[in-house]
Amino acid sequence: MKGFEINFVQLISKKRDRGELSQKEIADLVAGFTDGSIPDYQMSAFAMAVLLNGMSTDETVALTQAMLHSGDVMEWNSDKPIVDKHSTGGLGDKVSIPLAPMLACSGVTVPMISGRGLGPTGGTLDKLESIPGFRTDLSTQETQALATEIGCVITGASPEIAPADKKLYALRDVTGTVESIPLITASILSKKLAAGLDALILDVKFGSGAFMKTLEQATQLAESLVSVGNLLGVKTKAILTDMNQVLGSSAGNAIEIDESIRFLNGDGPEDLMEVTLSLGANLLSLVNDEPESANRTRLAQTIHDENKPAFTKLNQMIQGQGGSDFSYQINHTHPLYSPRAGFLSAIDARKIGFAVIELGGGRKQLGDELDLGVGVRQLVRIGDRVTQADPLFEVVSNEAFNEPKLQNALRLLDDSFQISESPVPSQQLICKTIG
Ligand code: URA
Repeated sequence: MKGFEINFVQLISKKRDRGELSQKEIADLVAGFTDGSIPDYQMSAFAMAVLLNGMSTDETVALTQAMLHSGDVMEWNSDKPIVDKHSTGGLGDKVSIPLAPMLACSGVTVPMISGRGLGPTGGTLDKLESIPGFRTDLSTQETQALATEIGCVITGASPEIAPADKKLYALRDVTGTVESIPLITASILSKKLAAGLDALILDVKFGSGAFMKTLEQATQLAESLVSVGNLLGVKTKAILTDMNQVLGSSAGNAIEIDESIRFLNGDGPEDLMEVTLSLGANLLSLVNDEPESANRTRLAQTIHDENKPAFTKLNQMIQGQGGSDFSYQINHTHPLYSPRAGFLSAIDARKIGFAVIELGGGRKQLGDELDLGVGVRQLVRIGDRVTQADPLFEVVSNEAFNEPKLQNALRLLDDSFQISESPVPSQQLICKTIG
């Protein structure tokens, strides 16, 4: 591609000088980066120019479209709507695991493409790999065949899905260019839309345990994702949810699968139920034109019906993806008590995520092997009254603790919460809907 580099320098300079790139310029840029004719150093400079100067909605749409079409885009021959859910990531966020089978029992097909842990937040694929034999590396063909047969699949993005995003994300990770709303929008949507969706629901989280720390930042990201998704022809909606404490009761890998299984058997915590039903009902209403309340009832029935249809569906999905029987036993626990009586007033949820990483349940470096059996349970919620006799957290493991790792985790947990003398309001879990 002779002459490309010169053009590319002009494109970087144009973005540096706050110019607006055309759809063709963005498409050439992504094509050149994907086929290797544009080197990493130039793409890094471009990413930094975008981070500093932003992109218009038209540019973000063009970038998303180009990254989406850098690889396979699934086509379906199905009379059922093809839908998915994406979360920007949070502590103890296991919603995808129960929601995919609940949706599959509610008249839609869910080819869910998920990710691994990012920073202190866990990843759905890591959690699912605590099921013996479970494959998260399905090809595009396998994903489509299984989703059609069973109704839901949860897998990683295969090499054929949005290869431009894989390359660009790796560069952004090491060039200080992750926190850019247009780049995040194109990255998330290029992978998700490659599944050939009719509708997408986004759980955009904010708070101490989330990527976006404030409701304002989360709102900006949600607005960008919703407008670009809709402009690309996919009915897209977002819910903004609080992530200042663990969602549900546990954070870890196997322990979150265990919690998801209990949830599908009608034994789930209220906050997890609320987020799961809100996301699912909003998503179904995008494709079946029924009110959200009717869809909530429909989804709840998949858990509460006597024959447990959503749990049966999860088992079919596990078997379809090569998994065998899952069992998880907590054999070792270590409680962490409140230092005084009062009210649990705040949690730095990132520190709980870092505690899980210290225990070996998350990665410090690319490729680190995980200890899937460790985790942390949050035993009281923000706003609850506590005494010195009350454990706030419990560190858990199926195998004997590694003592230095346990001590590191306990130090982080010890530093992660505040107790106030006066009552504090409990947190609103679902703060806004966009779209
Ligand atoms: N998750 C993604 O997939 N991409 C980003 O850029 C950020 C979070």
